[in-house]
Amino acid sequence: MIDVAVIGAGPAGLLAAREASERGVQVTVFEEHEEIGEPERCAGLLSLSGLQRLSVRLSSEYLQNLVRGAFFKSLMGRSYLIDTGKAVAAVVDRRLFDKFLAREAERAGAEILLGTRVTGIERSGKGFVIKTSRGAFKAKWIIDAEGAGAAILRKFFRRGTDPRSWIPITQATVRGHGLDANYAYLYFKKYLPDFFGYLVPIDEELGKLGAASRKPGLGKRFAKLVSEEFPKVKILSKINYVIYTGSPIRDLGFREHFIAVGDAAGHVKATTGGGVIFGGLIARNAAAAIAEILHGGDPKPFLREIGKALVELRRIACFKKTLDRAPDIFLDIALAAAASPLIKPYLANSWDMDFQLSALLRR
Ligand SMILES: Cc1cc2nc3c(=O)[nH]c(=O)nc-3n(C[C@H](O)[C@H](O)[C@H](O)COP(=O)(O)OP(=O)(O)OC[C@H]3O[C@@H](n4cnc5c(N)ncnc54)[C@H](O)[C@@H]3O)c2cc1C
Repeated sequence: MIDVAVIGAGPAGLLAAREASERGVQVTVFEEHEEIGEPERCAGLLSLSGLQRLSVRLSSEYLQNLVRGAFFKSLMGRSYLIDTGKAVAAVVDRRLFDKFLAREAERAGAEILLGTRVTGIERSGKGFVIKTSRGAFKAKWIIDAEGAGAAILRKFFRRGTDPRSWIPITQATVRGHGLDANYAYLYFKKYLPDFFGYLVPIDEELGKLGAASRKPGLGKRFAKLVSEEFPKVKILSKINYVIYTGSPIRDLGFREHFIAVGDAAGHVKATTGGGVIFGGLIARNAAAAIAEILHGGDPKPFLREIGKALVELRRIACFKKTLDRAPDIFLDIALAAAASPLIKPYLANSWDMDFQLSALLRR
């Protein structure tokens, strides 16, 4: 009998596996793909403070670039540069980042079974029987980190994220953008009404160029962004996927011993679709809480940390709704204020890319 079975070897599953293993819990991770990190579907922009919260050390094994601020083009066509004056975020190669996390999880004692798809779950006494493409396994607890589709969570536990809050996204690796690689670039456009376009630079030549919208014809909208802002880039490769812009699910599932984390549970910042840091943070605390329960300890400190992260995610989702309904000028006012030299010391010292609204409300 496995103590904790983890479904999915993305960042949420791997960070949960590392945490539980470090706490002396026996963990097996089931990953349907033959290789960790494949297929890559991420711009890989992660705050340095978030990586620190996850206890993931910065490493040249996966690091592509560091950025210290962001350039915005507003709906009204105005440009704003927000420069914190110091590196605030890493650009990572998600294939290599996930492999790095897998090595850490294995070093801590976790077993990772690649090419093993979870196909069904059954209750068995106080635990579960997990049916996979490689046979059945018994486990006391399940951490479900299966990502966006969340078929297992929906089918066997009748829980899930809000389907209307998933937005189609296209991202291309491009060559020849020619922009300063110290910044990330965000383009708000009328033809991308519910999200934005972005360029995350790897260096001054290579970058990850994306756009998301739930309106029909994303391909044409993406092409318009390229022709307007990056007419000279060469597209090297392209992926289509989805990102989440809603609230996290209400019940994580502690009572059922089946905990949903990461994208599967909507642990994503609704403003940006970024889910690596919050998904990892909640997964890590969930794993620590389970370890405490298994060892007869006190899970409350870890449950409190999960509670704080969920409150922040709900606030961010609420803010995103407000922003979507606000007049165009609202964004310009907010960006003008953020770009002001008066704000720079605050951004350098107190701004938090993840706990965005808590950082503002503390002021
Ligand atoms: C284009 C794009 C750009 C993005 N950019 C950023 C960014 O810059 N910063 C950021 O923080 N986030 C970004 N995100 C979001 C980020 O990629 C996700 O939030 C993150 O990958 C979620 O991690 P996860 O571990 O929950 O799920 P995933 O990374 O999706 O991992 C889930 C894993 O579970 C496996 N799996 C699924 N079902 C089963 C099954 N039945 N059996 C076994 N294995 C299974 C999958 O193969 C997968 O490996 C972006 C997303 C997209 C699409």
